[in-house]
Amino acid sequence: MSHQFEKVALLGLGLIGSSLAHAMRRGNLAGTITGHAKSAETRKTALRLGLVDEVFETPGEAVRDADLVVLCVPIGVCRELVQTIAKDLKKGAILTDVGSVKGAVVRDLEPLIPEGVHFIPAHPIAGTEYSGPEAGFAELFDGRWCILTPLYGTDEAALERLKNFWQACGSSIEIMTPEHHDLVLAITSHVPHLIAYNIVGTASDLERVTKSEVVKFSAAGFRDFTRIAASDPVMWRDIFLNNKDAVLEMLGRFSEDISSLQKAIRWGDGDTLLELFTRTREIRRGIIEAGQETDLPDFGRAPASDIETAGKKE
Ligand code: NAP
Repeated sequence: MSHQFEKVALLGLGLIGSSLAHAMRRGNLAGTITGHAKSAETRKTALRLGLVDEVFETPGEAVRDADLVVLCVPIGVCRELVQTIAKDLKKGAILTDVGSVKGAVVRDLEPLIPEGVHFIPAHPIAGTEYSGPEAGFAELFDGRWCILTPLYGTDEAALERLKNFWQACGSSIEIMTPEHHDLVLAITSHVPHLIAYNIVGTASDLERVTKSEVVKFSAAGFRDFTRIAASDPVMWRDIFLNNKDAVLEMLGRFSEDISSLQKAIRWGDGDTLLELFTRTREIRRGIIEAGQETDLPDFGRAPASDIETAGKKE
């Protein structure tokens, strides 16, 4: 069977880069996979795990002759990286990314793309709270959405190739504008993460509840926030700095709604609480029915012993 791409370059070999490598190996999608990451340690690990066939100290060497180049680095690094590699990109190559924010990435990268290179931004809606080259696995994208935000005038054949690539990695494709993507993700991902970071921060600041009580009774709800709040700090700092407008808009709505709940609790308005909690339960059912979550007890969470061995970089 012929490969989808003769040579794929992965810039960034953390959770997403390594999962893409595994998914490409599984589907035999690439003839050769080259890679680059900032640290020698990650580059060495990527070679040892067989994620890539070759690693390079500089990103320019890694992308030379590649038909597909995927930026799998924190959003704040993309511009500098593309400035460095622009002269090394092959004519006709597809350059894509996996960043969780699209508007800022398009604004930063579009002016740097050389003539003849097809730049097609993408965002796989799949992840875990783990980072680094050992955190990846081939199934990460299975049954998950990958959103593509092609720019005006994008080459249809290149778009089709990238769609096929993500489908072969297990994803379903949705196309939207970068602005719409950022609004949707602000409410479905970015604001929920901010709330988790905030609630875990508040709990750790509480003086009248000890740290051991927070840990001991965490299964009451707090534990699920701690999982989200364990996500990579650099990645999430960059998301909030780069999706400022949409996050602030959604936070404004959130604040208004939480004030209404505060009022309902103060005034003993049980009907308002019951109506909301019934409606939100339906939303969870819808997510399970859509195959985006499990209804197994304890959310299908693996026992702690499995998590310990799941390859986590701290
Ligand atoms: P990660 O596990 O922390 O990996 C980031 C990788 O980028 C590492 O290999 C790191 O190298 C490399 N890197 C950082 N700065 C670099 C630089 N200046 N030059 C070259 N390489 C550099 O992060 P991730 O979770 O894979 O996230 C990567 C991207 O995927 C982010 O843009 C994020 O928005 C997006 N994304 C993440 C998720 C998720 O849940 N994690 C989901 C969807 C999309 P070292 O290891 O040497 O530091």
